[in-house]
Amino acid sequence: MDDIGYDVAIVGGGIAGFEAALTLKTLRRKFLWVGTKQFGDKILLAEHVSNFPSFSGTGRELCALLKKQAQAEELPFLKARIDGIYQSGEEYLLTVGEKTFRARTVILATGVETSGAVKGEREFLGRGVSYCAVCDGALYKGKTVAAVLSSADFKEEAEYLAGFAKKVYVFCKKGDLSFSKENIESLDDTPLEVFGTRRVEGLKTARGTIEADGVFFLKESVPPSSLVGGLETDKDGHVLVQRDMATNLKGLFAAGDVTGRPYQYAKAAGEGLVAAFSANAFLSLQDRENQENL
Ligand SMILES: Cc1cc2nc3c(=O)[nH]c(=O)nc-3n(C[C@H](O)[C@H](O)[C@H](O)COP(=O)(O)OP(=O)(O)OC[C@H]3O[C@@H](n4cnc5c(N)ncnc54)[C@H](O)[C@@H]3O)c2cc1C
Repeated sequence: MDDIGYDVAIVGGGIAGFEAALTLKTLRRKFLWVGTKQFGDKILLAEHVSNFPSFSGTGRELCALLKKQAQAEELPFLKARIDGIYQSGEEYLLTVGEKTFRARTVILATGVETSGAVKGEREFLGRGVSYCAVCDGALYKGKTVAAVLSSADFKEEAEYLAGFAKKVYVFCKKGDLSFSKENIESLDDTPLEVFGTRRVEGLKTARGTIEADGVFFLKESVPPSSLVGGLETDKDGHVLVQRDMATNLKGLFAAGDVTGRPYQYAKAAGEGLVAAFSANAFLSLQDRENQENL
């Protein structure tokens, strides 16, 4: 457990998270800004951005400007993927592998998945499908698992699984992957569907079928409802929010693409700002109430 407790934990390195971090800095709050990558990959893909105030150019150019501003403002950024967010009394615990961070409030700015889920992935979540090797790997001691990696960045997590499982089948289309552990087999194949009856029994692929007791989807972004238990979402998986970006969970706010369409920088940035002000107001109120109860 990290001994430092934060006022706010911002999860997501995109523009919504960035704007929340800038605002919390001006509000003099102690915050943790964490994401898989600062500003993410999406921004680099935009050919031409013409609807963001005071800017017209490529996504790459916009990203360079944002990075420059983050450096000038000396905004601390932790490059990591949050595996789980749990309520514990009046605070939240956020886990990254075996490390845990504490924060009084959370701003979820995790964007939306563009890659889409494999058939059966959501259906078997918690019944053999997992998004976190460190959280669930030990459940598969002596068993066979498949690990579907969105990039070679998740190599270590696949190796972690191999420390428990008898056999790990790895699927990874992006990046060069070679493993030294003999119980890992890297397959040049495409996963199509998780199958099973009560629990996962395997994975149908473009080339055949793999029998497996569990399937791990190791990717940058996981559905918000899997990240935070009890979080209310709409039928498309977007987090339901009020105008102040509050979710149904006390002290937990959401901003950006994760709350729904339009998926746009200006909307994401605006919501990041509102979420930061709302988290600040929540903390001030909580402090006043705690004072009165002394
Ligand atoms: C090709 C393309 C072109 C576009 N062009 C435009 C345009 O011209 N104008 C416009 O306004 N918008 C455009 N957009 C949309 C714009 O990119 C999004 O609206 C914007 O990036 C949303 O910002 P965000 O911060 O909400 O989410 P994101 O930018 O998606 O950032 C969220 C980040 O959080 C990370 N994350 C997710 N889960 C976790 C976790 N558990 N732990 C840590 N980090 C996590 C993700 O990996 C990601 O890096 C375009 C998008 C694409 C793909």
